[in-house]
Amino acid sequence: MTLEGKVAIVTGSSRGIGKAIAKAFAVEGAKVLINYASNDEAAKKIKEELVSMGCTVEIFKASVEKESEVKALFEQVDTLFGRIDILVNNAGITRDALILRMTESQWDEVIDVNLKAAFLCSKEAAKRMIKQKSGRIINISSVIGQIGNPGQANYSASKSGLFGLTKSLAKELGSRGILVNSIAPGYIVTDMTSGLSDEIRNKLLSSIALGRLGTPEDVAEVALWLANSANYVTGQIISVNGGMF
Ligand code: NAP
Repeated sequence: MTLEGKVAIVTGSSRGIGKAIAKAFAVEGAKVLINYASNDEAAKKIKEELVSMGCTVEIFKASVEKESEVKALFEQVDTLFGRIDILVNNAGITRDALILRMTESQWDEVIDVNLKAAFLCSKEAAKRMIKQKSGRIINISSVIGQIGNPGQANYSASKSGLFGLTKSLAKELGSRGILVNSIAPGYIVTDMTSGLSDEIRNKLLSSIALGRLGTPEDVAEVALWLANSANYVTGQIISVNGGMF
């Protein structure tokens, strides 16, 4: 098991891509703290599933855009596992609207959860990883941060912002043995994309070289590579989009 002895926090990992990443890490022997914002049932279910497979996982509810809750999340990992080797900044939301209709709160909510939270969590992780002289931070961005999308100016800006955060932290923390990378998934089958109409889905499919939407596991296997090997990769954006961009 390649992550034996390692400890990971995956934000927003009660469902979707985060859940697949938490599972991939736990199955490889990592102790994983599963974070979520509100859905207690989903979090309990993934914990039960992984514990029944012999994995070591715990759940912790925290809204990662709030500094006090992020501090509590990291205090919990200190108490439970005594270290942190891998942070995946995965929690994300959409609040879509065309620019003329987009409200200030739609803008702020998306920037806070998708970008500010990654800053807050990376800061807490870096404090601990610098002492350990090792660590991996993986920011889950999006193809929309690379190409833009009508109706998603807030989401696209937050995801492009993660690229700047990734590249700056890679330069700032590289000398301390901490590698920071970003994954830019294309369209992945999760609750976030379940509302796509057939028309949009078919249009999308025609723009994807592999002719299918991605699965959470497609993203998780790249996260696993960045977490447990990829020793000379930092400050990079890894596209996982089936050849869409
Ligand atoms: P999802 O199925 O909607 O799941 C979102 C997860 O984030 C849930 O576990 C949710 O917990 C948690 N969450 C939401 N707000 C949070 C907060 N404030 N604090 C802590 N946790 C919070 O999303 P997904 O599709 O798996 O997306 C995961 C990430 O990949 C996001 O950053 C998304 O932008 C990115 N991404 C997704 C796609 C795609 O096509 N799906 C493509 C590119 C990038 P609760 O259930 O408790 O609310």
